[in-house]
Amino acid sequence: MTDYIGRYAPSPTGPLHFGSLVTAVASYLDAKTQSGKWLLRMEDLDKPREMPGAADDILRTLDGYGFEWDGEVIYQSERSELYQSYLEKLKDKQCVYPCNCSRREVADIAHAGIEGPVYPGSCRHGLSSNRTQIAWRLRVDSDNLIFNDRVYGDIQHHLQTDFGDFVLKRADGLFAYQLAVVVDDAEQGINHIVRGADLLNSTSRQVYLQQQIEAISPSYAHIPLVTNTHGEKLSKQTAAPAIAIHDASEQLINALFFLGLDASALSSAMPIAHIWQWALTNWQLCQVKKKII
Ligand code: GLU
Repeated sequence: MTDYIGRYAPSPTGPLHFGSLVTAVASYLDAKTQSGKWLLRMEDLDKPREMPGAADDILRTLDGYGFEWDGEVIYQSERSELYQSYLEKLKDKQCVYPCNCSRREVADIAHAGIEGPVYPGSCRHGLSSNRTQIAWRLRVDSDNLIFNDRVYGDIQHHLQTDFGDFVLKRADGLFAYQLAVVVDDAEQGINHIVRGADLLNSTSRQVYLQQQIEAISPSYAHIPLVTNTHGEKLSKQTAAPAIAIHDASEQLINALFFLGLDASALSSAMPIAHIWQWALTNWQLCQVKKKII
């Protein structure tokens, strides 16, 4: 059997909140109960969206909550050469093409897809204007793509109509999340991914990209999102409060309840190590109740 290698990959756009704690706990318990490795990767590619100090704050908070990660933390901002080398390979295979359509042009000609306008492929056979800023898009095929999620079951997308040819490198020179995440998961040998259900729709694009770079697809489990009283996903945009280290025991117990475990034998007066021990003994992914996203 292949050894389990999992990961947690926060974006340092703000401090950890209860929603990010829930996914960290699920991925950690899933890895550790299968004697796996749990790697930490800082997804700090999008510098304009980064909050100064957030990466260090996230590491301090994870440490304060008793998470123990394996190996060095990887920072995506230091890996541009690697991403470029994968893009070059995709260029050689003619899997990608340059695109200089503006956002406005895309919005005007696109049809509605699952996550917004679907690019109709105007630059597939040559640039459509003389604008010099160029993005690189992955050509998707017209097959249905199906993958199995350990929580949500079989997920099927038709990449061409649901998402269209998607961007791997943006016109401003930044590598897109979809490329960086697939390259890093492949390079780090990740074979199990447990993360938030907001990424369920990204997974089919990632599986397709894995096929293009000839990487093995990991197994996926998407964890239902924690929402606030208005039904919105907890995030920086919805002003989710940061979790504090002095509340670690209580927040960890709340996360275990959210993940479907009956943690009523635990109390916030208990040391965090005791709560982790209980969680490691009692973790079962099948207790996680899927919610409609
Ligand atoms: N960096 C992403 C986030 O914080 C997670 C990416 C992933 O797990 O693939 O939402």
